[in-house]
Parts: sequence; structure tokens; C-alpha cells
Amino acid sequence: MDQRYDPQTIEPKWQQVWEKTRAFCADADASREKYYLLEMFPYPSGRIHIGHVRNYTIGDVVARYKRMCGYNVLHPMGWDAFGMPAENAAIANKTHPAQWTWENIAAMRKQLKRLGLSYDWERELATCDPKYYKWEQWLFIRMYEKGMVYRKESLVNWCETCSTVLANEQVENGECWRCGRPVKQKKLWGWFFKITDYADDLLEHCEKLPGWPEKVLTMQKNWIGKSTGAQIRFPVSGTHEVIHVFTTRPDTIYGATYMVLAPEHPLVRTLSRDTGQQETVDAFVDRMAAESRTDRMLETKEKEGVFLGAWCTNPVTGTQIPVYTANFALMEYGTGAVMSVPAHDQRDYEFAKKYGIDIIVVIKPEDLSVEETAATQAYTGDGVMVNSGPFDGMHNRKAYEDLIAYFEKNGLGKRSISYRIRDWGISRQRYWGAPVPMIHCDTCGIVPVKDTDLPVVLPENVDLLEGGGSPLSSHEAFVNVACPQCGAAARRETDTMDTFVESSWYFERYCSPHCDTAMFDKKEVAYWMPVDQYIGGVEHAVMHLLYSRYFTRVLKDMGLVDFKEPFTRLLTQGMVCKETQHCPEHGFLYPEEAGARGESVFCKKCGQPVEVGRVEKMSKSKKNIIDPNELVARYGADTVRLFCLFAAPPERDLEWSEQGVEGGFRFLNRIWRLASAWMVRFRQTRAFTNAPDHLDENLRPLYIKTHQTIKKVTDDIEARFHFNTAISAVMELVNAMYQAETRDISPETADDQTAAVMRGAMETALMLLAPVVPHFTEELWAAMGYEPGSLANQSWPAWRTDALSADTRLIVVQVNGKLRGKFEIDADADDEALKTRALEDENVARFIEDRPVKKVITVKHKLVNIVV
Ligand SMILES: [Zn+2]
Ligand SMILES: [Zn+2]
Ligand SMILES: [Zn+2]
Repeated sequence: MDQRYDPQTIEPKWQQVWEKTRAFCADADASREKYYLLEMFPYPSGRIHIGHVRNYTIGDVVARYKRMCGYNVLHPMGWDAFGMPAENAAIANKTHPAQWTWENIAAMRKQLKRLGLSYDWERELATCDPKYYKWEQWLFIRMYEKGMVYRKESLVNWCETCSTVLANEQVENGECWRCGRPVKQKKLWGWFFKITDYADDLLEHCEKLPGWPEKVLTMQKNWIGKSTGAQIRFPVSGTHEVIHVFTTRPDTIYGATYMVLAPEHPLVRTLSRDTGQQETVDAFVDRMAAESRTDRMLETKEKEGVFLGAWCTNPVTGTQIPVYTANFALMEYGTGAVMSVPAHDQRDYEFAKKYGIDIIVVIKPEDLSVEETAATQAYTGDGVMVNSGPFDGMHNRKAYEDLIAYFEKNGLGKRSISYRIRDWGISRQRYWGAPVPMIHCDTCGIVPVKDTDLPVVLPENVDLLEGGGSPLSSHEAFVNVACPQCGAAARRETDTMDTFVESSWYFERYCSPHCDTAMFDKKEVAYWMPVDQYIGGVEHAVMHLLYSRYFTRVLKDMGLVDFKEPFTRLLTQGMVCKETQHCPEHGFLYPEEAGARGESVFCKKCGQPVEVGRVEKMSKSKKNIIDPNELVARYGADTVRLFCLFAAPPERDLEWSEQGVEGGFRFLNRIWRLASAWMVRFRQTRAFTNAPDHLDENLRPLYIKTHQTIKKVTDDIEARFHFNTAISAVMELVNAMYQAETRDISPETADDQTAAVMRGAMETALMLLAPVVPHFTEELWAAMGYEPGSLANQSWPAWRTDALSADTRLIVVQVNGKLRGKFEIDADADDEALKTRALEDENVARFIEDRPVKKVITVKHKLVNIVV
């Protein structure tokens, strides 16, 4: 074998071998247990960034590990290829979005292949392919037939400059994410998926996803936002109008001293007509329409409103209370009307103080008088009812139920549940997306495209509009179509679908990506789905992950799949971070634009000292980025993979360090040197695999270390994918091999048994590192005489229990004094080792959550108590 480790020769060689032998192509096989490993597929921006590398490397190690464990592994890759950036880039570069996208896909595919990721490339798909979105259109029509999708006029985020609707997540601080102009509210017709029909089921099943991070489930629960309470009718004085209010606190109704309507509430303009307040109200409503709703929701936002000049009746007291409209009331919450109880709600309290409205206490805590309650701020706790007519003296929790019964008996209201989640608006007025497969006919109304006419192909011969309006509506050949029902001239729908629709079912499509008779082959989906392990960024917690859960329920209700939850386990990896560098003259600098002079850093353009900022997420705008292609060219893919896995556990942020990368490269070289020194001897012997008592005393420690390492690495991967500690364990094993060398064990003088134990240790190190540095290990594996390319499918090593150090102890772990976990550890493990192991425990971490650890108490041989 070569004396020198040369990744640039080794890596492409093994990549070709894997491709030629179809090493990672998966076939359904009912006799084998499957494992479906998936990373969120990328948007084809054109370049792989380091965040991708980390994400896909984590996934790849799991896929390779599971394959070695004997699973039939499915690990596919594809492209989330529709969306606005392609359209905008195409306009800017005077090209076509399709061309831009396909070129980017080709470039990124090449970069991913260079990383040695074990994908089944035969399953590659791109969502902009008509063969893909044909089935999305087919499903859309099925959903329409079942009433799961509808068209309505509603208020949406609208960017005038880009002339399109924006999703809530595309509005940043009230401004368009693309052009930075303020986003307005606009009334527009659009298509909606009835995700709210599944709100309860989606919520309930959050409790049945133990393999998901708690924080993601919490975000989903909050987004769904179920609240229970009552809907109450407040008649408007002097009219026949009624304001319907949803409240979670019906027990405070006697303290409701004013009413607030959202500025978008249809009654706002009606009620203020001819009251003298009309002009003020109109001006306020117009101003609110220009403000972003996200901004209006901010806790810190100054509360402001105007009186409508109208009054309504508190149905239990009969009192006339003023009706306001205010910035904090949102149409999409409850009914868009708020029964305001200033004594028992802080926001209402501040508003009442500002506008001089009555504050009436109706719940009194035990330790305060009525006068003291709500004297300086709202009182939101429990207590005894006061100022509440027949309910006085009752505990408010009891009154809560009695009041609902009273409303229902007297026709004033009813028990009610409200959700924060709204139906999913999927219409986009942009070009680069899947066309909504519907036709507008003057006679028949809305008619779905016939199945036999699918797909409705997005025409490519369009003139993209500067500024981004959809060219489809003026594309005569696309728009003009015969009505499928009556044959008369009709117009095709020109909205395209939100790209989140494509990403809501791609994981099912991967099971049979070339199926041209259905969305997917049901048998294939039944075998492979659900995804056993999904990996991606936490920024998708609410949108993509919730939509995918919803879509899977739709497919289940259509009888297409027999499960509800698409992802059994979810890992949200941390970010890749690096410090920023800022020159007073040139602003943020790329790493290569700054040089070091002793301790200080200077700008290479102007020589001025550079301010080194805090470590934060890599981003183009801050220029604190690293190009993975350059790293691969310098160190090879294996070193980059090794660093990404070694620098931090997957769920934590990773701080970029050049020294860390070099350290990884040195570690590989260290193994290489040892292997090449021993290779002649290794080839003459076989690994020792017997019980340790067959060994000489001086060889036993290395043999035991070998088996301890197998156990440690396996446990670390199985428990929490802690590849960083797994890699450290292999580093220790390599150190032990070097130490054995210093104890007069050298390749030249070693006897057969020594060579056999050394070979066993080396083979083990290679197998354990195979998922992490697959090219490097494959090369050494072949050098040791094994079939070239066979390591990828080698069985994961098993440890001999008689070769583990016999003396271990069972340690229990407590969090705040309660038993939360146990583990076995060497009897001689010190306090630090106990502490580390305890904090690594998955269940323990669940109970610590994000709370800081105050103290860790360890009792040798017995227990660890963590105080948070
Ligand atoms: Zn814009
Ligand atoms: Zn018709
Ligand atoms: Zn400068």
C-alpha cells in the first residue's frame, strides 16, 4: 500500500466502485427488516453549503451504520425544485427558471457525489418534473372531490413590488423577504387546504411521537393552538347586529367593560357609519392594513385603538359597553372580537388605563381586598367571584362551568373550542410552481381538469415579467381551454401551488419514484414507509413537518396509505457557526480576506485591524462562510465528514475550526501510518477472536480495549447518534495500538499472536469508522486482503462480553431527586465520567430540557443527581 494517505486518489476510486456495484441501491425485500433514512431534500440553489454537508453526513453515517447492522436501508436524494428564488434568479440572469434549476441540480449532484454519500441515486427526483407534479395535481382533484380543498376570498400578505402573495414565513418584520418593501394585507381569491379538519388529530398525535424532539412538538402544539372556552353573543345597541366572541375566560364576563374588534372585522366599518367616528376609524383601519400582522402581534408593540362610536350589551349585566377596534386584535384568532376584561387580563388592563375605561374586579384572591386586586396590574389567577350577581362567592373554576350552562340555557352562548391554526392557503400568483389543475367555466363554474388530461404542464415558452407577476394569466395558449364538462370556451386557473405542497409527499414518492400509473406503488410504500429517521433543520418545525403530517392523513383517508405519521423519529441538527470579521472600511470580510499578524487580525485589502465578532450562524450576508468544495479539495471528503461529526453532537450547534479540520486530517494520517507499518504482518495473519484468557497477559489490555470500543461506539450511536464520543473512543483505541507498539511490540519482531491482536484492533477501528470515513476505511480494508468495496456491506462488529472489563457498576440517575435513568459503567470510573454519562442519557436530557444545570452530585458506584 501507499506510504502516503492521498484522499484525492482514493475517494473518486471508491465512489466509482460503489456506483458500479450499485452498492446503495435499495430493493424492497419482505424477508428483510427495512430502515428508511431521510434528510430533508435541498432547494437547488446551485451550491452545497457547509450546513448541507453536516446534515447529509449525519444522515449518511446512520444509513451506513444501519446497513452494516443488517437492515435493508433506503437512503434517497432529490430536489425541492420549484419556488420563487429560481424565478427571480432567472429574471436577474436573463435565463429560464427551468434551465437555471436543472443546471443547479447537475452542479449540486456532482458536489454531493464527491462527498461519498451513500444515496440510491436511481431514485433521484425533482419536484419540477411534470412526472412528479402530475400526481400532485391528481391528488388535488381527489381532494377537491372530497371537499378537502376550496376556493375563497380572504386577506393575504401581499407584496406590491413583487406582485404576489407571500406566505407568513416569507414576511420578515413586516417586510417582503425578497425586496424589503412593506407587506400589505390584500383581499384575494385563492385555494385552501382544509388542514383545520385535522387540527385535533394532529394535536393529539403529538403525544404519540416519542422519537421527536420535545421542542418541535411544542412548536406544533402552539401553532395548532387549541383553546377551550365559550362563544358568547353580544348584541349591538340600536341594531340587529350581534358580535360573537370567543373567550377562554367566561368566568370573567361580569368584568367585561369594553369590546374590541380586529381592524379587518366586517362590523368595524358598518358600526362606525354616521357616528362621527367614521373618518377616524377609516383612517385607523387603512393604517392597520399597511402594517404587518406579525408586527402587530409583538408583545412589546404599543397597544392602540379607536372607539367606533357604537355600543353593545354585556349579556349578563345588561350594561352598555363601548366597542373599539385595536391593533392587537387579529381576525384569525377566535372570531376576531375580544371581550375585554381589564381587571383580569394585562393587555386589556393597559388598554383600559390608556383610554380611561372602567376596570371592574370580578375574581378576588384570598389575600387581597377587592380594592387591592388589580390596583396596579391585572389579576390573572384564581379566586372567589365578586361583582358577579348570582355567582358571587363561588370559586371561579366552578363558576366557569356554571356560567357556560347559564349561557346555553338562556341562549346567550355555548361551550366552544378555538384553534389558532388556519386553513393552508396554497395559491401563489407566481410562475415557477405546479399549476392548480382547475378550469373556470362561465356556465359550469369551477371544473377539475380530466384525469386523462393530466399533467397540466407548466408552459416553458413564457416571457417572465420584470417584478415577478405571473406570466401565465397572459399566456393565451395556456389559459384558453375548453370546459371539460360542457365544451364551451373556458379559462384555466393560473395560480400555482405553494412549494410546500410538493415537499409534503416526496418521501412517499421515493418508495417508487418511477411509478407512472399512480402517485406511488402502494406495496412499495407499505414496505418502506414510514420514514424511520428523518433529519433536518428545526426551522421546518411548523411548516414542512406539520404539512407532511397533514398530507399523510389525507392520503390515509383516501385509502392510499395505512399510517398517519410519516416520520417515526426526527433529528433536528444544530447550525454551523463561525466568528464574523469586520473591517471599518470594507465591512464584513470573508475568511480569506483577513490575515493574521501575531495575535491581531487585519484586512488584506486595506491593512486596518479587523474586529472579530461573535460566533454565529454561517451566512452569506455576514461572510463568515466556508466553502465545502475548497475543503474537500484540500483535505478530502473524509476529513470534512470526520470534522462535521466530531466537533459536536448532531443536535448542537457546531463551531467551525480550521484546527479541528486539521486535527481530523492528522488522525486519519496516524491510522494510515500504523496500518502501513503493519500491513505486511497483517496480511500474514488473521484477527484474534477468541476468549481473552487464551492471550498472553501483555496482549490482553489491547484486546479488551478493542471490545470496549465496539461496545462504546455502538451504544453512542444507538442511544443518541453521539458520533463525537464514538469517534473519541476509536481515537483512544488507536492510541492504545500505538502504546502497544512502544511496549516493544513492533511489526518486525511481533509474534503471530501479537500480530493477530493488532490486526483485530485495526480491523475493528476500520469497521467502526467505516460509516464516518468510508473511502479511507474501504482503502485500508482492501489493503488488508478483503474483497475491494466489501466494507460498506460488512457486518457491524459485535463485542465479546468476556472481553469487556468484568468489573462494572449500575449507576442510577436522578433529576431533581427523581429517578430518570440508569447505566452501567466501569467500577473505576471517576466522578467526571459518571457526570458525562448521566448528561448524555436521552431520558435524562428530556427531563432537563433547556433548563441550565445548577449542580451535579455524584456518589461513586451508586448515583448521579442532577439539579436544575
Ligand atoms: Zn417584494
Ligand atoms: Zn362548462
Ligand atoms: Zn479593509
